[in-house]
Amino acid sequence: MPIDPDTARQLTALAPALRRILTDPESGTVLSVGRTTYTVPADLKALVRTRDRTCRFPGCTHPAQQSDLDHTVAWADGGTTSAANLAALCRRHHVLKHQTGWHVRQRETTGMGDTLEWTSPTGRRHTTTPEPPETTRHRAIPHGPGIPAPGPPLS
Ligand SMILES: [Zn+2]
Repeated sequence: MPIDPDTARQLTALAPALRRILTDPESGTVLSVGRTTYTVPADLKALVRTRDRTCRFPGCTHPAQQSDLDHTVAWADGGTTSAANLAALCRRHHVLKHQTGWHVRQRETTGMGDTLEWTSPTGRRHTTTPEPPETTRHRAIPHGPGIPAPGPPLS
């Protein structure tokens, strides 16, 4: 709910410290706490794990729910604690990212940082985006009068 400037001034005068928090206007879910804290708030963790579904390393299917959340741009390098700078990585690929020559960039196309661009130590590029939710990934096979039932491939 928006508040008027006078109320805002009164509230900020009373608050010892304010955290800059960006929330989704519809759901109220926290999307970013910026540079206020390295620790990922619980609802932001849930959001990123739900978005990512799996570890975001190319080809990895380890469930995001059992993966670490990695700051794509390291906190020490000025990275923010936000959906646009966090990605699920399984422990193996989290360690690999930090200990080998892989580089990753997270794109801001949707404000959700859902596209990761990986560059391998040999310079090969891989782009990963999360799998879409089950409900949109599986399409019903058309059936009914005049449409042949699915069967073995024709030889
Ligand atoms: Zn992985």
